[in-house]
Amino acid sequence: MEQQRLITELQTRGLHLGEVTPGVAGRQGGAGPSDHKAITLDGTTVMVPIYTGTASQSPYGVKNCGLDQGELTYGRQPLGSVSFPRPPQFYSLTTADGIPYWKIALLHSHDVLATTVQQTCMRYRDESTACQFCAIEKSLASDRTIARKTPDQLAEVAAAAVRLDGVKHMVMTTGTPHTSDRGAAYLSDCARAIKGRVSLPIQAQCEPPDDFVWFQRMKAAGIDSLGMHLEAVDDAVRARIMPGKAEVPVSYYFEAFAAAVQVFGWGQVSTYLLAGLGDSLETLVATSDRLIRLGVYPFVVPFVPITDTPLAQHPAPSTEFMFALYQQVSDLLQGAGMTSERIKAGCAKCGACSALSTFER
Ligand code: SF4
Repeated sequence: MEQQRLITELQTRGLHLGEVTPGVAGRQGGAGPSDHKAITLDGTTVMVPIYTGTASQSPYGVKNCGLDQGELTYGRQPLGSVSFPRPPQFYSLTTADGIPYWKIALLHSHDVLATTVQQTCMRYRDESTACQFCAIEKSLASDRTIARKTPDQLAEVAAAAVRLDGVKHMVMTTGTPHTSDRGAAYLSDCARAIKGRVSLPIQAQCEPPDDFVWFQRMKAAGIDSLGMHLEAVDDAVRARIMPGKAEVPVSYYFEAFAAAVQVFGWGQVSTYLLAGLGDSLETLVATSDRLIRLGVYPFVVPFVPITDTPLAQHPAPSTEFMFALYQQVSDLLQGAGMTSERIKAGCAKCGACSALSTFER
């Protein structure tokens, strides 16, 4: 099977690992795409759902599984070898006050350091405002992270991850605080501390702040690229899936995108589009087209139904839907000369939660 289709299949159907736990631990709960694990196929590392209900029913599995490699199977049929990135060395360290580094930041894919600087969100605890796909506070509840990472802690962990494991860039996201800057100020404080310690490209992710002057402050603090995530586009889908965030209109996101591109540069601003939540193929492609024309990279990702969220039983999108979406969005990207490779840092550069970057080649 060609690699693009195999990755698309694995990301929509998941991988059934059973009791086997090779490689670096997967992510359960937390912000953004989750309940998945990094696997490497033919040199490409992707995140594949393993803890979801869909994954437990998946025909894809692994046999002859060692610590960091095995044989990918479909039914009983072997498909080729698969490897699993090893746990990074920085996971074995702790801060002076006794916090394991892995509670402060995680290795994503094989060379990305990722953290949620604030693990609580003003929208999360009230079901009338919470995003139904999100599990941001689950990892906090199970003691797998801490509520707020200090700038010094992040700088310490980032320096170790670069020194010991050669991470190439960093993603900092945040739960949305009550403040009108939407977390931009704290992300800037964290970036300043990290850049003071180590040279590491950083992407920050937050909702659009009230005042776009924050983009200049973020850039001045050392943030290289910015993610502001639409997730869904159609008003009815937004109101149903993320009622709190839907109060910020799509038009405001587009104003923020235009202002952010002025500061961070063409192709250095990105947004997640979660396919499978209800937006049609036409809507997702037309929105991607509009974003690309503005200089924003549309990071289209299959929705993953995360355990213990209201959407745990919601079906993942079909392989056919994702394949058609990737083909059409990658055509638009190619037409505009926009590539994930040229992004300095962040999810769209990493690309592991989507098969889109494999379609760019
Ligand atoms: S795309 Fe983003 S969330 Fe997914 S593995 Fe890469 S850095 Fe992590």
